[in-house]
Parts: sequence; C-alpha cells; structure tokens
Amino acid sequence: MNNEAVLAVFRESSALLEGHFRLTSGRHSDRYIQCAQVLQHPAYTAKLAGVLVAALRQQGIMPQVVIGPAMGGILVAYEVGRLFGVRAIFAEREHGVMTLRRSFRIRPGEKVVVCEDVITTGGSVRETAALVTAAGGTVAAVAALVDRSNGQVDFGAPFVAALRLPVVSWEPEACPLCRQGVALAKPGSRSI
Ligand code: ZN
Repeated sequence: MNNEAVLAVFRESSALLEGHFRLTSGRHSDRYIQCAQVLQHPAYTAKLAGVLVAALRQQGIMPQVVIGPAMGGILVAYEVGRLFGVRAIFAEREHGVMTLRRSFRIRPGEKVVVCEDVITTGGSVRETAALVTAAGGTVAAVAALVDRSNGQVDFGAPFVAALRLPVVSWEPEACPLCRQGVALAKPGSRSI
C-alpha cells in the first residue's frame, strides 16, 4: 500500500475529514484526522499494521516486544505485535505520568518498537520510549499510522509511518476558509 492507498482507507472510514476545522491549538485547518474511525474496523487496522511491519522489516527491524501509549497506540501496537508474533503491551498515564501498569514488563536487552496512531509533536511516544530505556530495553524503532509532524520529530531511532500527512493550519485571522465564509466545525462535535 502506498501513501495514496492508505489515504483512501482513511477517507473510506471517515477517519480523514476535509472541510474547515478548529484544532485544539486554536488554529484552523482544512483537514482533520480521527484514527479511532479507521481503527474501529479490524480489517483496516490489520492492513495498516501490515504497512508498518513491512516498512520495519525492510530496515531489518525485528522487535521482541511492541508498546503503545494509551489510548491511540494500543490497537496499533496490538496488530503490529500480532504480525511479528511478539508481545504487545501498553503504557498509560497515572497521575499524568506515563507508566507501565498491569504487571507489564520490559526485560533488559529487549528490542522494542513503540507504536502510535498519530504523531504530531511526538510527546507521548518520547515518554514511552523513555520508559523502555529506563527498563533496560532498546527502542528499535517508532511506528505510527500517521505522521503529522512535518518532519519535525527526531526520536533517535528509525521512524516509519503508513501515511505522511503534514498539518496545514492557519491562525484564525489568516484562515482562507474563514475568508470564504465556510462554516467552522469543531472536531469531536456531533455536527461533523
Ligand atoms: Zn478558519
């Protein structure tokens, strides 16, 4: 699956919305991604995880465990783990701090791939990678369904994505869609 084929899956599942949106940053954008919409279809999730696994294998990366930050990374990690035939665990926030709970363990020396749905700033992935390192594991790679970082993130490890989709956004006063009078939608609201 190339970038266009992956994009088609996102459109078909309504995970990629095109219109006029107010992002959490307050900026306006013509596109909005909601990965849960694509991940609700196990068949799509399996296909997209297949793209990530192929990209990782191409770089000779074979993890012994995969981990995703909750919530977005859980399903991605699970499918990637299934395809590699390895454990798939997740990290979650406890009092705001990314933690391994539920007796999940990373053993010293284990090669770990960190999985995520969408990467914009990469904050959760970086925190999860720090957990891996603190446990004595090695971050072999980072794998995300969508890279929205505009090439701005560096995890100090190979980074693969099924879809590269830079964020195009404007301050409200400079928004061309506002100027055209296009109705503004707030992502997550029922109006979409
Ligand atoms: Zn606008």
